[in-house]
Amino acid sequence: MLARLLVAAVISSAVAVAAASAAVRVVTTTTDLAALVAAVGSDLVTVESIVPSASDPEAFEPRPGDIDKLRRADVLVRVGLGYDYWLDALTSRIGDKRFMRGGDAYLDASAGIPLLEIRGQSVVNEGGHAHGVANPHYWLDPDNAALITAAAAEILIRAVPAQRERVMANRGRFLAELEARRQRWLKSLAPYAGAKLIAYHNAWPYFARRFRLDVIDFIEPKPGVAPSPVHLAQLVATGRKAQVRAIVHEPYEPEEASRLVARKLDVPLVVLAISVGSIPGTSDYLELFEHNVAALANALAASRR
Ligand SMILES: [Zn+2]
Repeated sequence: MLARLLVAAVISSAVAVAAASAAVRVVTTTTDLAALVAAVGSDLVTVESIVPSASDPEAFEPRPGDIDKLRRADVLVRVGLGYDYWLDALTSRIGDKRFMRGGDAYLDASAGIPLLEIRGQSVVNEGGHAHGVANPHYWLDPDNAALITAAAAEILIRAVPAQRERVMANRGRFLAELEARRQRWLKSLAPYAGAKLIAYHNAWPYFARRFRLDVIDFIEPKPGVAPSPVHLAQLVATGRKAQVRAIVHEPYEPEEASRLVARKLDVPLVVLAISVGSIPGTSDYLELFEHNVAALANALAASRR
């Protein structure tokens, strides 16, 4: 009896090991990409984000263990556009051609995305918090998830060609769910079309375009630069004139200036998730939008204008 149990245990652990080692190991730079790859890969993948959940991707610096994550990876997915510029130093230290631009296991998810706020090609990356050649926050338009998951599906199928059907079915299910919710999100925010907002950080052009909101100015004079009192005074004047209806604030940013402007304009301050996991209750891509849409709709319903 004991022998039989032991054999059964050995067999089941061998099966578990086989299943785990068969999974495609995907490393993404951010939690948003991790969530989208997980939606497409489901049980065919293990996904790890280099930037941990609940930490600011635009202030991130790689830690010693991150290079080991990359060494173990089968597939690497990045945001691109300078958002995760630090990845280049890691991949060049590894020197694995698969993880470099044009490599078989490398996906820059920004490829093919209709970009906003494109700047001249001569713009050099100013580092951590600054925006590079275009606004990098493209995952905040749910429609861009179709493009990102298409590219993710392609690179996963390249890694496990026999699983093409399952990858495509996973993606189809995810996009159907996203579309159903997207209709509801659009409906929730439709009454506030054209509503003027001020945001702390310039993270919202893709989101605002999709949901017909108008972010007219920013508490930060430039991405990563703290506001001066003069800038804040001008902002209050601009906000009053434009009848701004809410201040959008991102996690990890200092709240004082946003609060001050909200108080002076007598409008709500609404904290929106800039990425998956940046606020409790935003542990996947759909929840990110559920939170942001509900928070904004509540704030705009409460604002008087
Ligand atoms: Zn940014």
